[in-house]
Amino acid sequence: MPTQVYNELLRVYSHQGWWPINNEYKKRSTLSDTEKFEIIVGALLTQNTSWIQVEKALNELRKNNCLSVQGIIETKQETLGQYIKPAGYFNQKSERLKIIAQFLLQHPLAELQQMETNRLRALLLSVKGIGPETADSIILYAFSKPSFVIDTYTKRIMSRIGLCRKDVTYDELQELIVRNIPVDVEMYNEYHALLVEHAKQHCQTKPICADCPLSKDCKKLI
Ligand code: SF4
Repeated sequence: MPTQVYNELLRVYSHQGWWPINNEYKKRSTLSDTEKFEIIVGALLTQNTSWIQVEKALNELRKNNCLSVQGIIETKQETLGQYIKPAGYFNQKSERLKIIAQFLLQHPLAELQQMETNRLRALLLSVKGIGPETADSIILYAFSKPSFVIDTYTKRIMSRIGLCRKDVTYDELQELIVRNIPVDVEMYNEYHALLVEHAKQHCQTKPICADCPLSKDCKKLI
């Protein structure tokens, strides 16, 4: 079933080009360290806010030469807070930017890139402010390693379809999905992006089930 859902969403919405870097959605074969760092910062900033607001914050950081480990280390937390204000929770998030920059000084991107996925996940989860969704987004989109991202949209769509309980935990749903699809970074990447798109277009808080591409097999457990 998760594979059918994926195929149908891909057929309807096509490739999404995630993760957006420098405001661009396009498929990339390799990522520079600057791009990886931008993804990590974006994954932290997107907690509890929309991507549009994150882009504004990223643009401010870029404009002020703060989209690098060194740039963040050398900038006062209060100043960082002003730059990232559009993304909300700016006191907390600026503190987290400082923490992740320090973390990356101790564990450079090249070292993390070489790490086995489970070890990398455990290490990221030990950093203050990084929970499972942020860790999996970083592992999948910055390091191109297979770690399926679960978010509110994934839970909403999968539970409405009838694949899981409404109160399914992060780990339960992640396990259920990865057990039923191939271990494939490209597919993990695309699947998460497609679910986000589907939640925006059809499976909103108040779902638009008419013409929904998943309607035929969806149990509509709303
Ligand atoms: S049919 Fe309705 S509830 Fe089911 S996935 Fe589509 S929009 Fe969501």
